[in-house]
Amino acid sequence: MRSNLSSFLAGLSERVLSFLFPEYCLSCGRYLPEGGLLCPECEESLPINRNFCPVCARPYPEGVPPHPCGDCLSGRPFSRVLAPFLYVPPVSDWIKRLKFAEDFTLARGLSRLLRKHLPRELSFDLVVPVPLGRKRLFKRGFNQSALLARLAFGRLDEILVRTRETPPQSELPASERGRNVRRAFSVKDETRVFARRVLLVDDVMTTGATVEECARVLRAAGAREVTVAVLARA
Ligand SMILES: [Zn+2]
Ligand SMILES: [Zn+2]
Repeated sequence: MRSNLSSFLAGLSERVLSFLFPEYCLSCGRYLPEGGLLCPECEESLPINRNFCPVCARPYPEGVPPHPCGDCLSGRPFSRVLAPFLYVPPVSDWIKRLKFAEDFTLARGLSRLLRKHLPRELSFDLVVPVPLGRKRLFKRGFNQSALLARLAFGRLDEILVRTRETPPQSELPASERGRNVRRAFSVKDETRVFARRVLLVDDVMTTGATVEECARVLRAAGAREVTVAVLARA
């Protein structure tokens, strides 16, 4: 039921939403009479991902010249990853909050933050969220990636499905995450994917095993290109 309410709210106009949800700074809680996400001070101090691998957005220390990282040299199923923020507080706290409790105001704030920090000229045909397994979806009641995707890009193409339940990636060491998600996804309707440009959306990218497997399956189904958009990169 709760996820139905979110889908309903996600379809409303900005004006109606601003009236229903008066806006407070996402970070310090200060009331924002003009609306928006963050007060100017908090906006200034966001952990922006400034120096990174141009393919997978892996963060580099300051001063390292941008270059494709070792994992990207051997080729990736996605053309690039857009990850405007580092997975550190307060962004990591917001993402955790969103995962464990449905909070429409937070989801809306994060999706606007994501959209605002992505390139303007972004072009795609389909917006595909990383799916949750049926059991986890049932337990949680909503898919935070689908909520983000719908709110940030105004459309949702849930054509990727989990074909088997896997333990959460966050509970496994990095070395086991690739194997954990192998053959865990499939495309529902290949005719919809063929020759299309896909924007694959998730909340956070850590080792990249999940988005890599999703992108691989989408390309195998005929997608022309897969671009990944996540809020934060670890
Ligand atoms: Zn603030
Ligand atoms: Zn890379």
